[in-house]
Amino acid sequence: MITRKTIDQIALMRRAGSVVAEMHEACTRAAKPGATTLDVDSAAREVLDRRGARSNFLNYHGFPAVVCTSPNEVIVHGIPSETVVLEEGDILSIDCGAIIEGWHGDAAITVPIGDIDDESKQLIDVTRSCLEDAIEEIVVGNRLGDIGHAVESRALAAGFSVVREYVGHGIGTAMHEEPQVANYGPPGRGMKVREGHVLAIEPMINVGTQETQTLADGWTVVTSDGKRSAHFEHTIACTEHGPEVLTLPG
Ligand code: MG
Ligand code: MG
Repeated sequence: MITRKTIDQIALMRRAGSVVAEMHEACTRAAKPGATTLDVDSAAREVLDRRGARSNFLNYHGFPAVVCTSPNEVIVHGIPSETVVLEEGDILSIDCGAIIEGWHGDAAITVPIGDIDDESKQLIDVTRSCLEDAIEEIVVGNRLGDIGHAVESRALAAGFSVVREYVGHGIGTAMHEEPQVANYGPPGRGMKVREGHVLAIEPMINVGTQETQTLADGWTVVTSDGKRSAHFEHTIACTEHGPEVLTLPG
């Protein structure tokens, strides 16, 4: 079942979303050359504690941290570690969430570590634009296929590929609700978007092949060719006035 949220419920999700945005700011400050990905996780935990929010990532199917930290060729679900040291020229995807009064927020960004090469800059810019294009499609009467098509067209036009195994999702009193929202496919197909739907849209875009591999830890997903990947995500409500991004600073 796909739930429709009330104005009051969306207000609570906006509060959860503002915690996620603050976590991103803290993680971005922590993600500098010489820091470890565990330092990034610690920065996010400090925000959760201060804001009185709970993590929806910690212990999710046994995940051991509040942030997924995914450097360079890691697409998603990287585990923070004191042995992963960030270096100048890396890129790092930071994916995290928060729960306030039972309502969830979920968002991701990809940040440069110091100076990065032009291809990595373009990858980050294009992936952010994929998300922005997708958000514009979250209007009453559009279909899920319009969202996926917006992401895929922008990515392919830049010569990049779209990860297919991991998709966006509904979100509310659980982090992952129906429907699944693919980042590819033809427009004009799939479920109609209605007022009160809240979706987490999360394109993962690769420089090279779209093929993925999961490492032996059972979590870390990497590109099969070792080339870089970027990930952006927001939690977005469909309102009568159009899309509203809920994961913004409060
Ligand atoms: Mg998500
Ligand atoms: Mg996420």
